[in-house]
Amino acid sequence: MQDNPIDKEDILMELAELRSLDHDYADGRILGSMCTQAHPFAKEVYCKFLDTNLGDPGLFQGTKRIEEEVVKSIGKLLSLDKAYGNIVTGGTEANLMAIRAARNHARKYKGITDGEIIIPDSAHFSFKKAADMLNLKIVEVKLDENYKIDVESLKEVISDRTVAIVAIAGTTELGLIDPIEEISKISAENNIYFHVDAAFGGFSIPFLREIGYDLPVFDFSLEGVCSITVDPHKMGLAPIPAGGIIFRKEEYLEVMAVDSPYLTVKTQSTIVGTRLGASSAATYAIMKYFGKKGYSKIARNLMENTRFFAQNLKEIGYEIICEPELNIVAFNHPTMDTKVLAGKLEKLGWKVSVAKCPVAIRVVLMNHIKKNHLKELLEDLKDLY
Ligand SMILES: *Cc1c(COP(=O)(O)O)cnc(C)c1O
Repeated sequence: MQDNPIDKEDILMELAELRSLDHDYADGRILGSMCTQAHPFAKEVYCKFLDTNLGDPGLFQGTKRIEEEVVKSIGKLLSLDKAYGNIVTGGTEANLMAIRAARNHARKYKGITDGEIIIPDSAHFSFKKAADMLNLKIVEVKLDENYKIDVESLKEVISDRTVAIVAIAGTTELGLIDPIEEISKISAENNIYFHVDAAFGGFSIPFLREIGYDLPVFDFSLEGVCSITVDPHKMGLAPIPAGGIIFRKEEYLEVMAVDSPYLTVKTQSTIVGTRLGASSAATYAIMKYFGKKGYSKIARNLMENTRFFAQNLKEIGYEIICEPELNIVAFNHPTMDTKVLAGKLEKLGWKVSVAKCPVAIRVVLMNHIKKNHLKELLEDLKDLY
């Protein structure tokens, strides 16, 4: 740091210059992001809550109530009348809390001290972080030919050390939904904690179902589901950072509670201590602002773009990995290497994302990618074919 103060104008200019190096969602060229421009109203509300600290809720009782209301209404969306949980920084922290709850619960009630978690190959890498931090062993369950959890293989890998089973509603790479109803039954029969990661799908599947899309039930109406991750900062159009972790029972928060001596509350179950209330307030505002109808409209529009894009890709001659269930399309050229194709698209200014399992170009059709961007992309893909 320099010795003397610098003029605000100069600082802002310097920051603007650096900011201009970032890519802009509005260009419609960011193809692989699960985040997008937050809604302006959500940002406006966010700024009003920058001084709030939910780590010390006794001092911010109003904002605490906002967080509780958001958790309650996301819970309702997921068929849970009385929800427990928090608005956290994102899917990673939400998954970490879920796995920590599962581990602590199994330790307390089953005496498991060397636990394992069962996750599919398609799971987000946040579970690897969680397992590492919580000292759990990862047991991977195979996918079937449709890239979903193979239920028979799942039964085989359950052991008396299993502290949690994880399934995904809207996989990061392909947007697919695991057979959650069947897995819920298996979890309940074996008395094992079942976490559903709907970081991506949580803010679209319920709305798509509401307008008649044939998507499976993935939520708390299935008795085995203990917790669900849902990210407002992805399909919810809330500003980053906003993740949601919703628990079926209060005891899952209780098994994580540690004493918090100098604060206005006696215990704390979240991982983060001092934490901003702005994420909760912005999520609260944007959920009210859109309502179910608003979110349904957005989700439907994105699904229509998805169909349009997938259909046109096929017509050009590209091979899509699977029929999209949500707004993600993964595809390959029939003969050209995926990395080569990705490189060519990058040269044309597209910010491309390559999926690993299976290797494919992956386009997440978020709100910032409009029909005209898709048409330009398809033109380029036609030329490259
Ligand atoms: C994005 C994503 C995550 C991680 O969320 P962050 O907000 O990036 O921490 C976890 N799980 C799934 C399925 C995701 O799509």
